[in-house]
Amino acid sequence: MKVVVVGGGIAGLSAAHRLTESKRPGLQVTLLEGADRFGGTIRTIELGGCLVELGPDSFLSTKPWLTDLAGRLGVADRIIPTASTHRGAHVVHRGRLHPLPDGFLMMAPTRLWPMVTTSLFSWTGKFRSALDLVLPRGCESGDESLGAFVRRRFGGEVLDRVVQPLIGGIYAGDPDTLSLKATIPRFLEMEARHRSVIKAMVAQRRAAAKRGNGSSSVSGARYGELFSFDRGMATIVEALLAHLPPGVVQTHTEVVGLHREGNFWRLACGNGRQFEADAVILALPSRRAAALLHGTDVELANELAAIPHASSAVMNLVYRRSEVPHPMDCFGFVVPAIERRNIMACTFSSVKFVDRAPEDLVLLRVFIGGALQRELLESDDGALQQMAGEELRDLMGIEAEPLHSVLSRYPDAMPQYLVGHSGRVERIESMLEQYPRLALAGNAYRGVGLPDCVHSGEQAAERVLGG
Ligand SMILES: Cc1cc2nc3c(=O)[nH]c(=O)nc-3n(C[C@H](O)[C@H](O)[C@H](O)COP(=O)(O)OP(=O)(O)OC[C@H]3O[C@@H](n4cnc5c(N)ncnc54)[C@H](O)[C@@H]3O)c2cc1C
Repeated sequence: MKVVVVGGGIAGLSAAHRLTESKRPGLQVTLLEGADRFGGTIRTIELGGCLVELGPDSFLSTKPWLTDLAGRLGVADRIIPTASTHRGAHVVHRGRLHPLPDGFLMMAPTRLWPMVTTSLFSWTGKFRSALDLVLPRGCESGDESLGAFVRRRFGGEVLDRVVQPLIGGIYAGDPDTLSLKATIPRFLEMEARHRSVIKAMVAQRRAAAKRGNGSSSVSGARYGELFSFDRGMATIVEALLAHLPPGVVQTHTEVVGLHREGNFWRLACGNGRQFEADAVILALPSRRAAALLHGTDVELANELAAIPHASSAVMNLVYRRSEVPHPMDCFGFVVPAIERRNIMACTFSSVKFVDRAPEDLVLLRVFIGGALQRELLESDDGALQQMAGEELRDLMGIEAEPLHSVLSRYPDAMPQYLVGHSGRVERIESMLEQYPRLALAGNAYRGVGLPDCVHSGEQAAERVLGG
């Protein structure tokens, strides 16, 4: 049986690895990657003595698939946690950096007193958010946007000042269009089970504290559940490549045509090469998969093409520590759209992970664009660099030019799970039932995070192997 995997990002590599791991007799696996390297969005480089992530910088351990894979690849001992100090985030408020209330995680507080004392919200806003404690459950009428849910439970102020930028940092999206069910369903479950999201969050924090793994002062994200590798996220890509048998992977081989001929799939590549396969896994951005499937199944292709994507740019900057007046006492900050600034967020990478930069240097990662500021990405690289520099000067008081900087653009890289996304994915999956030897993998369907992408690749491999 010949299987061709198209796309050498984390999803495609995980699919190819699972296929070879199966040790199925007679199985021949080929992975075709259009670019000159593997890893897709994952890219780690060395810059001025710093370990720099151009793409993703961490993964969630609560979704087990990447951690499990690392174990099977023999690199579990290279997994590192985020730094144990300064686990918190700031938010820009009226032009200045402001700490998030201690215990505020993603969408809701886990502690009440910091919500009362923070000057981030007005008294009206605080009172409105406290209504979550008494409000009834929402009516179960299908999908709801993340923005509508937060407004309903906590009010517009919490949404605009905190939740929108925190969500924007993950999905590069607009909360008023993103589906809660498809992005962070655990908040829906909390409401269904506990009615009040705050009560559920407080209970979870107390339970975690009892187990000895909950810090009440963490704010922003669950940093205790975020991990990386000592030499960066490229470690998992290198380990996957090292475990694939020789001859399986090929770069510079963009697939430009896919046709079904009887029981076979025929693939045509931009470099003139042709491949024949019994089974195909498309581990590609959904619109790329749509283009390849158009000749086979227009309806399926249209569903795939209807998943929109947002673009962003990441700028890594290295400064001398002595030239950064900010105390660097958190993991970074997020910027609400209502502040009308030119950046979405900034991660203090050399604080978030130890040993990412020499002691006398500071490594920052600035995010630009996303669904709410797509027009900024029309600017050229020089203009984006200038924007980032100006924002850091204004918000962190950094007057110096960076010692080093690198800009990475991610056009249409972040799928937007809009309201109705889960229904669309179910339709796509049911259409695929008529093609048992065709599978889709990647971030466009059931999770954008790296563990989800690993899972999607492994599931795709199992599907074409027959379950
Ligand atoms: C800036 C940024 C930061 C992120 N940060 C995090 C994070 O910290 N943690 C986290 O969990 N997630 C993060 N994500 C999300 C995560 O990185 C992605 O969802 C994931 O890497 C996608 O993997 P993939 O294999 O599905 O797709 P990709 O990485 O896009 O790989 C697809 C591959 O297919 C190739 N390809 C495309 N078309 C063809 C073709 N026709 N023929 C052959 N090859 C083709 C491409 O060259 C590419 O290599 C981030 C995303 C971005 C954009």
